[in-house]
Amino acid sequence: AFNFSAGPAALPDAVLERVRDEMLDWNGTGASVMEVSHRGAAFEAMAAQSEQDLRELLGIGDDHAVLFLQGGATQHFVQVPMNIAHGASADYVITGHWGARAAKLASQVCSVRIAASSAQGGFRGLPAAGDWQLDRNAAYVHITPNETIHGVEMHGLPDTGAVPIVADMSSTLLSRPLDISRYGLIYACAQKNIGPSGLVLLIVRRDLLSRAPDSLPEIFRYDRHAAQRSLLNTPATFSWYVSALVFRWLREQGGLQAMAQRNQAKAAALYAAIDGSGGFYRNEVDPAARSWMNVPFQLRDPGLDSTFLAESAAAGLIGLKGHRVVGGMRASLYNAMTMAGVGQLVDFMADFARRHG
Ligand code: PLP
Repeated sequence: AFNFSAGPAALPDAVLERVRDEMLDWNGTGASVMEVSHRGAAFEAMAAQSEQDLRELLGIGDDHAVLFLQGGATQHFVQVPMNIAHGASADYVITGHWGARAAKLASQVCSVRIAASSAQGGFRGLPAAGDWQLDRNAAYVHITPNETIHGVEMHGLPDTGAVPIVADMSSTLLSRPLDISRYGLIYACAQKNIGPSGLVLLIVRRDLLSRAPDSLPEIFRYDRHAAQRSLLNTPATFSWYVSALVFRWLREQGGLQAMAQRNQAKAAALYAAIDGSGGFYRNEVDPAARSWMNVPFQLRDPGLDSTFLAESAAAGLIGLKGHRVVGGMRASLYNAMTMAGVGQLVDFMADFARRHG
């Protein structure tokens, strides 16, 4: 089957096969990776190698620390301002469901300003350039480069001057190369494009680590996690290990430049099929802000939704039901989805439209 689900986790078959093969005897330890000590040499070597691989994939220099944390992206909606808002207000740019949620939760611990929002247009694009009201004194500007539910993606970065950019990249990190030097802090739950749930990747400019107030308890402090190389307490060992295999797999595929080419081609094929369907299918997002990773689409006749889902599942195309917030369908095209899978979906959609149009 080809799995178009938005998560949790989209993993390449090669990675899953390796996990299966190593399940009872990891790395010659005679035990599963879940059972060995996270303070033992084997686990520590894996952890160090995974950080090295991630740094090479994304071109992360020494100015940024890399953390392997827990709590899901939602916990970091709150933990980020706890660590780096340092009493100032923070700007939030809202381009979909998750950015709105991040702003709402952050407002429980810091002063939040909505610097721009596309809520009025129903999150079908980015706020118009003239509508961004960035505060040059903000602690940071928070963006959600890919909105997983609305399928809205920022294909460029705003100019925020000296104000650090904080990005929730939960559904887009590792889908293409990034200029890490443009970001103050990036966080991403693993369970979309990276690995199993339980792990959160956080890439933070080291100078921002010193912003944490003295009153912040140690377990919430990014500076303490960085000082302990993410081993302050027991990490999500299994998710970390699988994610490390994904980093290796990405390097074998030719790195993020190669993934970007593939991901762009997959998305282009699906949008072309939707736009070329004579209105049988539609995607309502501004073409300039369409996501490469999550493609929501509606059928002209919503009465056919359940038939579409049943027939597509029978054809081995699973996980296409749209998020309840927007309804319709959604095809997620994370790194693990192949062009062959997208080809089968496009063929199925054309055939379905012929039979039901
Ligand atoms: N941010 C984005 C962009 C997401 O797609 C999601 C989950 O789908 C979240 C945050 C929430 O992540 P978690 O469930 O790990 O808290």
